[in-house]
Amino acid sequence: MKDSLKKIFFLFRLGIVILILALTYWQIIAGSRIANLPENPRLAKQEEKLLRGRILDRNGQIICSTIDGKRQYGGPSSLAPLIGYISGRQGKSGLELFFSRELLGQLPAQRLINFARQLFGKKPEGSDVYLTLDLHVVEAAQRALAGRRGAVVGVDVRTGEILVLATSPAFDPNRIGEDWRRLSQDSSSPLLNRPLQGLYPPGSTFKLITAIGVLNWHLIDLNERFYCPGRIEIQGHTIECFHGKAHGWIDLKEALAVSCNVTFVRLAERLGKERFYETIKNMGLDRKPELGVPVSRTRIPPFRGQGSSSLPQLAIGQGSLLVTPIQMAVLAAAVADGTVRSPYFLRQTQAGDRVLERGHSNWQREVNMAALSVLREDLRYAVAEGTGRAADAPGLSVAGKTGTADNPHGRPHAWFVGFAPSEDPSLALAVVIENAGSGGEAAAPVARAVFQAARDYGYFAGVQD
Ligand SMILES: [Zn+2]
Repeated sequence: MKDSLKKIFFLFRLGIVILILALTYWQIIAGSRIANLPENPRLAKQEEKLLRGRILDRNGQIICSTIDGKRQYGGPSSLAPLIGYISGRQGKSGLELFFSRELLGQLPAQRLINFARQLFGKKPEGSDVYLTLDLHVVEAAQRALAGRRGAVVGVDVRTGEILVLATSPAFDPNRIGEDWRRLSQDSSSPLLNRPLQGLYPPGSTFKLITAIGVLNWHLIDLNERFYCPGRIEIQGHTIECFHGKAHGWIDLKEALAVSCNVTFVRLAERLGKERFYETIKNMGLDRKPELGVPVSRTRIPPFRGQGSSSLPQLAIGQGSLLVTPIQMAVLAAAVADGTVRSPYFLRQTQAGDRVLERGHSNWQREVNMAALSVLREDLRYAVAEGTGRAADAPGLSVAGKTGTADNPHGRPHAWFVGFAPSEDPSLALAVVIENAGSGGEAAAPVARAVFQAARDYGYFAGVQD
């Protein structure tokens, strides 16, 4: 009698264990496989039952969270096209869409935690997504853009983390439903995430490619001087220096500092179109960063035939060449560090204090040419003594190149592409201000403001005022 009672009790306990194992399997292991696609209708249902995770910056400042069942956006408006929105009518966009799996608690570890929460009668939660961005630096970039149309994006040269991004104009994601009509018809395109989607002629910032090429293939003696009479006739084009100014006899370093078109057209001829294209490829400009949100592909004209551009045009960043600011920031980071790295936004996902996954760069390629160390010094000189002066400030030691890019839409676009501190680079930046004129006057001061903020918030280790 006693034995059979024991037997029944044992079978009963075994039954419970099997039940738990089966539930665990369906809930956590098989379930997470089924539910991972953002468009899965199951996720929409999940949304109602669960507290959606928050999106935060790298320091834990909240960008968006759910309060009383409503998604609230508190981050700087210049991030709105990147972060995206959730709206009954407009659906989901941006990182809100891309990180659906994390925010809706579909990571296996989060499902396990939620399974336990539900056993105790608690509501399941999504994971929190910590981005690589620093809101202090983003706010500084937004202030520096001052409502003009343009983009700022900056990456940590050692990791590929995107530390700062700002687009202008932008919108208030809390009012996306009410403002949608006006936003979608606005000719200044506030829904466009300019740092990733904006396509611009690079202008003189593309002189970096020719400089890297001639240094890499040892096609230049560093003491060699070139004569600039202010203009050059080549392959059916007349190319002038800025305002037709004759620069006289100058070397590569001075040519970068004064942004001499004549010298760079001559250097590009020496490099040749094949090696020019090879340099574009080596520096990763043909490879679109996969960031989970819309990114435009850089438009490199075909090598020859219809739609191709001549080498003299390409050498000064014109022709039918179009680049995104993010690609130029990746280029600046590669010059600074000797490695081309794909950039990324995810620092980590967390369930409370527990880190569930960490972000990382998806691909990288070492360039590490002796050429780059020469170029880094020349770019420091271009800021200390040349057209990039307005990017510098005491204690910053900025290196970079300005650009003033002609385009069919009015005044030239102003560019600055560079990094700091020059002797031990940590942050690479690309700044573009649409139709603002000279890069040195309009874009370089924006870069300075962003570098200053980065230094003030501790990203320039070892650099003091
Ligand atoms: Zn010149």
